[in-house]
Amino acid sequence: MVRFRWEKFVLWLLLAAVAAVGVGQLAAWLGGYLRPVLVFPLFVGSLLGGMLVFLIRLLDLAHRGSVLVGVLVASVVCAGSEHWGCYLQAHREYERIAADWQAQTQGLTALSPQFAQAVQQQLPRPPGTFGEYLRRQVQEGRQIGPWIIQGGWVWASWWLEAGLTFAAALALLGATMRWPYCSRCESWYRMVRQGRLFPKDLARWAPLFEIELPAMGKNVRFRLLECLGRCSAGRLELVWEDSDGQLQSRQLELDAAQREKLDALWQAAASEESSPPETASSQDLPKE
Ligand SMILES: [Zn+2]
Repeated sequence: MVRFRWEKFVLWLLLAAVAAVGVGQLAAWLGGYLRPVLVFPLFVGSLLGGMLVFLIRLLDLAHRGSVLVGVLVASVVCAGSEHWGCYLQAHREYERIAADWQAQTQGLTALSPQFAQAVQQQLPRPPGTFGEYLRRQVQEGRQIGPWIIQGGWVWASWWLEAGLTFAAALALLGATMRWPYCSRCESWYRMVRQGRLFPKDLARWAPLFEIELPAMGKNVRFRLLECLGRCSAGRLELVWEDSDGQLQSRQLELDAAQREKLDALWQAAASEESSPPETASSQDLPKE
């Protein structure tokens, strides 16, 4: 059972919101060039999810409720930030147009106040406040594929996009939450060692863990995981391909004795490697 921690929760919400603002601004900028329907919010959600995964690992946060609230808040903040970014773009665009007009008609407006007024009226409407900008977007409608939607539908489409962003981010976090976590020292397991196991290593390892050797084949990879507090002797994960080419895996919670033997094996292997290499035997040489 993972305990709820206020300090982690608050820090998580803050950092998640900051990440969401950043991703939202990036989305506003990218969306100005390319914004494929439905795919774009999923892409934004994956980007946001990736950053949130980094944060829960950094904070060693595994409390499900806290994570869920954070992803929800981050998705809404991200959507808001994207709209805010578009609003800022509209502002910059307006200022650019206004400055252009002013530069082109400078001499003439100085001569005639009527003309100056006419120029003012020709200028597009300024975006106004953020609220006004959003209201105008809703009124004018937005184009989605071949359709133009207006009014409440625009709001619905925005919420739908935020929902897709949320779903994509949550999928990534859900996958990360399956990673082993130690609720005693409240940390995610870290990988301390990984590599490939050759048949001769397997033969040495087998008596340690009672692994069925014939089923494991040749391509065996291992990972050794540990929590930050080293509360246990570690967790060994073995991944291999069976005869049908299917990926198989097995997790082993090591006890202290097994870990000791494993460390001894690695030490022996390391000293073997550091000794001078033997000359290639005749069977390794290509036959002519
Ligand atoms: Zn621990």
